[in-house]
Amino acid sequence: MIPIRSYLRLFSGYLRPFRRTAVLLAVVLFTAIGLQLVNPQLIKAFIDGAIAGDDFSSLVPIAVAFMVIAVINQGLMVWATYLAEQVGWSATNQMRVDLADHVLHLDMGFHKSTSPGALIERIDGDVTALSNFFSSMIIKVIGNAVLILGIMVLLWRESWIIGLSVSVLILITFIGLFRLHGVTVPWQKAIRATSAEMYGFIGEQIDGTEDIEANGATGYMISRFDAIQRRWLPETVRGWTGWAMMWSAAMTLYFASLAVGFVLGAWQFTTGILTIGGVYIVLQYIQMVHRPVEQIREELIDLQKAGASIERVQELFDRESQLTRRDSKTLPSGPLAVGFESVTFSYNDDGGKETVLDDVNFSIAPGRVVGLLGRTGSGKSTIARLLTHLHEPQQGSVQIGGHDTRDIDLVDLRHRVAMVTQDVQLFRATIRENLTFFDPTISDDRLHEVIERLELADWLGSLPNGLDTVLESGSGGLSAGQAQLLAFTRVFLRDPGVVVLDEASSRLDPATEALLERAIDHLLEDRTAIVIAHRLSTVNRADDIIILDDGRVIEAGRRKDLAAAPESLLSSLLATGMEEVLA
Ligand code: ATP
Ligand code: MG
Repeated sequence: MIPIRSYLRLFSGYLRPFRRTAVLLAVVLFTAIGLQLVNPQLIKAFIDGAIAGDDFSSLVPIAVAFMVIAVINQGLMVWATYLAEQVGWSATNQMRVDLADHVLHLDMGFHKSTSPGALIERIDGDVTALSNFFSSMIIKVIGNAVLILGIMVLLWRESWIIGLSVSVLILITFIGLFRLHGVTVPWQKAIRATSAEMYGFIGEQIDGTEDIEANGATGYMISRFDAIQRRWLPETVRGWTGWAMMWSAAMTLYFASLAVGFVLGAWQFTTGILTIGGVYIVLQYIQMVHRPVEQIREELIDLQKAGASIERVQELFDRESQLTRRDSKTLPSGPLAVGFESVTFSYNDDGGKETVLDDVNFSIAPGRVVGLLGRTGSGKSTIARLLTHLHEPQQGSVQIGGHDTRDIDLVDLRHRVAMVTQDVQLFRATIRENLTFFDPTISDDRLHEVIERLELADWLGSLPNGLDTVLESGSGGLSAGQAQLLAFTRVFLRDPGVVVLDEASSRLDPATEALLERAIDHLLEDRTAIVIAHRLSTVNRADDIIILDDGRVIEAGRRKDLAAAPESLLSSLLATGMEEVLA
């Protein structure tokens, strides 16, 4: 059925600001329908008048009136369609904004499991279906239903027998159409779901073109593409078959009612009940009924498509962030304490088999620099993600500045805890915008001061347009070292209390490396820091060391003590050269 109720539940809030336009729309629409009904009456009067041998002077005004009304009617229909589209689009644009905002506040788990293509299809594709729903619903379905009703009244007035017969035929057709409609809804749903999957797949592939080609996976990807297409085709065929069935039903009505009109009209004319003008008007009205029935039928398909969209939009709105947010505490300025209290965490909430962190405990006093070591996959980056509250532990508590991260105002938390990840995301924008994250309140003076501090002035000077140099998106056409330096500057500008540095494991040339080292020195001054270290030089900077293995802390303590103790893991790592052991 047409999902009017769920549509209204979702949409009425968005329509409220357009109440006035809606009233205007109703007035325009119903006037147009009224005029459409009046016009055949004029022709009837004209025909009967001409046959009766009326004066030319009395026939001309009827003809002129007919034309004027026809033109006005068209104008009004255009106006009504314009109004309906306008309301539909304005209201859904607001909904797009709200949906995008909602999605931005969802947890990382959601974003990792939803491909960008599918998200676009949801936020834009499904909402567009909703905007069409509004204009189609008002203009085509309600407008046409009123038109059909008017025609029926006028037909009955002309001849009740013809009116009755045509009404019965229309009723039967509508019942048939609604039955068919119920059958074809799931068919349309399947098509939409597959198309979302298709676009999600394509988006992912375009994103990964480089890797796919480099790894020779093109053949495999094409075969997956093929598999989705193969599923899509029969679903589409079935969908169109549903359409064809409905079309046939509407055509059958049309010809059956025309036949009824001719037969009964001829009979009533010979018995003198109808004039020639009367017969004309009966046939005219029967023809007029055909178009609205046709349009309502077509709309039913669009509306049922919208039904699937409404469900998915509602689902997306109902998807709540897995993160607890109480936003009750704010963080003081200066370096902050960090603590993990029996933290157990796994990425997938349901099932929870794959434990990534297992009862992790440590605490870091404000201002200390901690080196975090561990094999690849041991959970180092995961600790960083928990600190910025991108995920939240299933058990235990992650604390910053003495508060559980769940209690801290999220905006404040993200402001005061900075993370520099292994791969730096750059935007297609100027260096200035990349550094300030598009915050225009940061002055160039402050930027230059920080750049000076991090000893990046020479590098910046070497760029053609300085701060106004536009970077490409992705790696931005910068080397890994340069990208890291940019990321440091970003963090420095925010002056955070905790810095989490997921050090790039790629090797850099000695000059860049030295630059990076000095930049890190400045970055860590007077801040609490967790440095995920891959290099000895970084380890040597740390006050304390934590070594992770398979999600557990296997060694923790002051670096100096651990390095001095011959039986410690750290000293064996240092003796063998870390990288071999940790690789
Ligand atoms: P590396 O040194 O390679 O960066 P790491 O110590 O940072 O490794 P993590 O990225 O924390 O390791 O990953 C720890 C474990 O969690 C790994 O087994 C990984 O497969 C898993 N994991 C990481 N990210 C996710 C995710 N988004 N969803 C599910 N599992 C994940
Ligand atoms: Mg990592």
